[in-house]
Amino acid sequence: MQLAATGARVTLFEKDEVVGGRTRTLTSPEGYKFDLGPTFFLYPRILREIFTACGADLDDEIELIQLDPQYRLIFEGKPNVTLDATGDLDRMEAAIAAIAPQDAQGVRRFMADNRWKLDAFKPVLEQPFSTAARMLGRDVLGSLPQLRPHLQVDDDLKRYFSDPRIRLAFSFQTKYLGMSPFKCPSMFTILSFLEYEYGVYHPRGGCGAVSDAMARVAERLGVEIKLNTPVDRITFQGRRATGVDVGGQHIPADAVVINGDFAHAVPRLVPDRIRKAWSDRKIERARYSCSTFMLYLGIEGELPQLSHHNVLLAETYQENIRQIEGGVIPAVPSLYVQNPTVTDPSLAPPGHSALYMLVPVPNLRFGADWQKEAKPFRDLAIKRLETLGIHDLESRIRYERVVSPQGWQDDFSVGYGATFNLSHDLMQMLSFRPRNRFNDTEGLYLVGGGTHPGSGLPVIYEGARITTRLIQEDLALAAGKRPAALAPQGANT
Ligand SMILES: Cc1cc2nc3c(=O)[nH]c(=O)nc-3n(C[C@H](O)[C@H](O)[C@H](O)COP(=O)(O)OP(=O)(O)OC[C@H]3O[C@@H](n4cnc5c(N)ncnc54)[C@H](O)[C@@H]3O)c2cc1C
Repeated sequence: MQLAATGARVTLFEKDEVVGGRTRTLTSPEGYKFDLGPTFFLYPRILREIFTACGADLDDEIELIQLDPQYRLIFEGKPNVTLDATGDLDRMEAAIAAIAPQDAQGVRRFMADNRWKLDAFKPVLEQPFSTAARMLGRDVLGSLPQLRPHLQVDDDLKRYFSDPRIRLAFSFQTKYLGMSPFKCPSMFTILSFLEYEYGVYHPRGGCGAVSDAMARVAERLGVEIKLNTPVDRITFQGRRATGVDVGGQHIPADAVVINGDFAHAVPRLVPDRIRKAWSDRKIERARYSCSTFMLYLGIEGELPQLSHHNVLLAETYQENIRQIEGGVIPAVPSLYVQNPTVTDPSLAPPGHSALYMLVPVPNLRFGADWQKEAKPFRDLAIKRLETLGIHDLESRIRYERVVSPQGWQDDFSVGYGATFNLSHDLMQMLSFRPRNRFNDTEGLYLVGGGTHPGSGLPVIYEGARITTRLIQEDLALAAGKRPAALAPQGANT
């Protein structure tokens, strides 16, 4: 979208039969619709700005429904404790006071400090990290006092909340990055802040509808979208990318952008000899996020026990995380359940529900045999729903699909099944992450969760904006033109 809006001729090669990658809709023959991956649509501001810059209006293309409560947290225990999280801070304080009275006064302090933190961090997120020296930039150094790089999310939250459950309510969001709140750098307290400050949205039709809208706008701008068309390799002259090979045909291009999952696509598409910073060996040894075990269930009838988003936090949450990081599949897992038909009945036939379950599990680096594990784990996941008061599910299942870590790798080209990409520890962020203008090459660029600023939809959209600016600069320089006149005559793939 963004490249085409600057005047580039863009061809998009997608190996699958639909656009969107992880952000796509799965539709069953019975008429149930599920998001394959993302279900929380956060911080629409970035995508809104991008649509506007492309001459479109996000709100004309999709209907964003703000959820209130934004999600339900269930702290497992005897009895369970439920917290309906809301961006209405008066109600949120009251809900927290009912669980941990001393922590209610921490909410507004947390919000004020994180507003400040986001302001400090935003310039860092919005700019490319094209050189190592960039790490010493004024914006990076200036943001350090607010970002507290020596602390983890849970530690940082102790400044506001003494009850571990309340800290979890403001820190489980690190799971969006596939990371533990006990290890994730403290700057990521901005994740929960963003939810409370800007809201959690459900796009009508699911997050897949956002990808469809982007494809529509892109095509209107002249992008040629070729589905079922895998790129076999990127061609090079020395270090310069010259185009792509697709089904035995060479397509020349002034610039090539890789959006495939970094660990999956780069070793296949870019020769190892060109990649010094990100050789095959480095990619193999890098640190990756957890994976997720997924169940998509078409259910007869409704599930009044559930809100739209429900997060079951096991009593053994911290132990769960240690197990996942150590390659052990949890026996009593925490899980996330989405019951979106309470908001959007279009996702299931009348009177039915489309249930999405996500259970964090180890990625494939640990070598579990998911052929063997999938069935018992599926049974365990369904049994865990009893904790949420759902006892009769099996007899009501009318459609079922499982995606295990192996399925993420084999069917959706996600390296190591690490659904949230390279982990976001400090040594794999900013200048240490694969760069938007890809290291050691010319004319080759990255977008997606594997490049700066990182994984998660708003962040990825911001990354695409950074990459577009770099291409615009580079091609305009190469052609000796101003960015607005960007190469309509060349194929910019
Ligand atoms: C289960 C799950 C839940 C999530 N929940 C959330 C959430 O609630 N909110 C949120 O913001 N984020 C969430 N995320 C994260 C978010 O989905 C991802 O960060 C994002 O979708 C990744 O986008 P991407 O563009 O990097 O990669 P992808 O979406 O994987 O896109 C890569 C594309 O490249 C294609 N491709 C690969 N190789 C080739 C080739 N050789 N030729 C042609 N095409 C190729 C693939 O088919 C795919 O379409 C979730 C992710 C998962 C998996």
